[in-house]
Formats: sequence, structure tokens, C-alpha cells
Amino acid sequence: MEYVELGAERVPKIGIGTWAMRGEQAYRAMLSALELGYRHIDTAQMYRNEPEIGRALADSGVPRSELFVVSKVRSSTLGRQQVLDAGRSSRELLGLDQIDLYLVHWPNSSFPIEDTMHGMNELVQQGVTRLVGVSNFSVSELQAAQRASEAGIFTNQVPYYVGHGQPDLLPYCQQNGVLLTAYSPLARGQLAGGRRMRRVAAAHGVSASQVALRWLIQQPMVAAIPKASDPAHQHENLQVFDFELSEHEMMDLGSR
Ligand code: NAP
Repeated sequence: MEYVELGAERVPKIGIGTWAMRGEQAYRAMLSALELGYRHIDTAQMYRNEPEIGRALADSGVPRSELFVVSKVRSSTLGRQQVLDAGRSSRELLGLDQIDLYLVHWPNSSFPIEDTMHGMNELVQQGVTRLVGVSNFSVSELQAAQRASEAGIFTNQVPYYVGHGQPDLLPYCQQNGVLLTAYSPLARGQLAGGRRMRRVAAAHGVSASQVALRWLIQQPMVAAIPKASDPAHQHENLQVFDFELSEHEMMDLGSR
């Protein structure tokens, strides 16, 4: 595993997404992911799988200190007290003493960001989460969140994959010490078909999915959280640390 180093934090560059994993399937998929070596886990209140993820974390026997667990408060409840309640509930459902990183899932202009971040910062002060961040925020929304958060903004989790760039946000994150967590890094499983991807994959003897993930994590300040419930997919997505894309390939895949 490789890590993004950010201050005292080390975040595994490849995590596991859990959107649309539910019930026993979520439990089994998470156990298998943990056995294979995943340590960066992405869930959310909205995914309604925090209890199963938590049970798998406990049953896996993986030491707590190795895990980086992320959850999110849903965007319909971003008042200060609602954020506090959500964070405490996520912590309890996950069965953890402390979440590693808690995110505002989507911006919602019905709630002043100062109010929302006040609640998020209290979660840090109370030890419910170690770090806070946001998701689906534009650069200007991120700047407003940063101004409102004494505890800082650790990450902005956004869609980022070959064919879907983040031309404004990525340089901003890189220059301002904010991790960009790439969600839907495999374009929800739709990337494999492209001619460019197939060509680069063939040149390295890897799959198109592996090229897609390598392209992301080879960029500074980027981590990726592919969702995979199939253990073969989970295994494949971790095999991205022993080949390197050339500068030309990086640029080519980054252009439209
Ligand atoms: P994704 O990771 O781009 O794609 C997931 C799909 O790709 C699944 O159908 C999976 O199949 C398939 N897949 C995984 N590895 C593969 C491989 N090696 N070869 C072929 N197919 C493969 O899409 P995503 O679920 O949208 O995004 C990932 C995670 O990001 C989510 O699960 C969630 O945790 C997070 N997310 C966050 C937000 C947000 O608003 N913050 C929004 C969307 C997603 P199997 O499951 O069958 O293995």
C-alpha cells in the first residue's frame, strides 16, 4: 500500500467504497476487503450499512490503529445539533470509539456553512471524529467551509476519473493541503471499453481498471475509493503499486 502523507496523517491511497452494499452482502464484502489488505473504508449515513461495516471491522481482528474509517452526515440535516446527533450515531453504529474522518456529504445552502462546521468542529472537540471534511464541494464552497472550520478541512471527496477531470479543484487542493478523495474512480464500472484505456492497459499488462486507479493515485494529494463487492475485483484494485504510467500516458489520459 502507498499513502498520501498529510501532516501527521497517512491515508492509504486506495480505499474501499461501500455505496449500494447492504446487509449481509456489505458485511461479507467488507470482511473480504479487510482480509485482502484494505484499510481505508468509506461509508455514509445515507448508505445505511454502518452497522454491517462496523461488525466486519470488529470481526476482522484488524488493529484499530491500522484503519482509516470515513463516514458522512446526510445533506438534509446540516444544522449544528443535527450534525452532532449524526456524528454520534455514526460512531455508535460503526462500533468505534472514534471515527477517523467525518464529512458533510453534499453542500446544502438551506443551512449556513458556519452552523454546519460549528457542529463538525464540536464533533472533533468531543472526540467523536478525529478529522472533518466535505464532499461534492466546489472550490468556493470549500473555501467557505475552510473559513468556518477551526479544525480545518482534511478532504473534499468528489467524482474524479479518467474522462471526468477536476481542473479547478485539484490544483486548489494540491496548493492548500487538502486531500482530494476520488469517488466513482472506475466511472461506476464503465471505463474498461475505451480504446485509449485498452492500449495503455495492454502496454503494462494490467487491466483498464488498474490503469484508471493508477492514473489517480500517481497524482499528488489524491486517494481513490473504488467500490468492489466481488473479491476478485477487490484484489485487482489493490494491484496498482508495481507499475508506473509515463508522463505521456498521464497527460494523455487526463486530456479529453
Ligand atoms: P466505482 O467505484 O467507480 O465503480 C463501482 C463498480 O465497478 C461496481 O459495479 C464494481 O463491481 C465495479 N468494479 C470494481 N472493481 C472492478 C474491476 N476491477 N473490474 C471491473 N469492474 C469493477 O463507483 P462508485 O461506487 O460510484 O464509487 C466508489 C465509492 O465512492 C462508493 O462506493 C462510495 O463509497 C463513494 N461515493 C461517494 C459519493 C459522494 O457523494 N460522496 C458518491 C458516489 C460514490 P462489484 O461491486 O460487482 O465488484
